[in-house]
Amino acid sequence: MTADSAPERQQHIQTRQPRGQTLLFDADDTLWENNIYFERAIAAFISYLDHRTHTPEEVRAHLNRVEHATIAAHGYGLKSFRRSLVACFEQLTDAPITAEKHARILRFVESIAEHEIEPLAGVAATLAELATRHRCLLVTKGDPEEQRDKLARSGLAAHFFAVEVLPEKNAAAYRALAAQYTCDPARTWMIGNSPKSDINPALAAGLHAVFLPHDFTWVLEEEAVRGPATGQHLLELAAFADLIRHF
Ligand SMILES: [Mg+2]
Repeated sequence: MTADSAPERQQHIQTRQPRGQTLLFDADDTLWENNIYFERAIAAFISYLDHRTHTPEEVRAHLNRVEHATIAAHGYGLKSFRRSLVACFEQLTDAPITAEKHARILRFVESIAEHEIEPLAGVAATLAELATRHRCLLVTKGDPEEQRDKLARSGLAAHFFAVEVLPEKNAAAYRALAAQYTCDPARTWMIGNSPKSDINPALAAGLHAVFLPHDFTWVLEEEAVRGPATGQHLLELAAFADLIRHF
């Protein structure tokens, strides 16, 4: 996805936006690493399952389907992820899970929760500077307790005017958020790594967007980035620190 294939996508706006913009930041895989820990846990799970007939790729595809269903019923977060692993295990082994196997699967999930929250390169300094000029809000989805705990551990909480943990980040959610915080769409930008949850729904809600691609974005977040409407801006930046040139 380059500027060549999407001519309407801008790499550069000539001048920095004036002070007083509202910047909405995604959290996972935008401010700090997240998905790589899930990928490691899933790899360990597939290796533990060691299925006799299904290949690792087939197990992974099945898990994706199970996760999709679990999230629809129970939302995002580690509790849902645990449900998905257990359900996937039971479905592929055709047997109820034993207490010992359940405990083992729980450990794959716990391995994710145990990670330090490490801001991605340039995030801490960039955010600190942006917060001196603009109103910064954190807009994430998932389990509110888990997401707020990660923010507290990240050391970044002081830069945010407000924190919203939503069940889903769709266009209606962005419209509601813009109304709640009286955001002027002409001066409001959603910044994140996910086309599906950050970029496309924010554009659909009439906001501007900044796409910060992450090499290891979750498969359930994959979607083609749609073009902005007339008057809307869509920036694609290689690094978080590049935000300083634009805001
Ligand atoms: Mg994200």
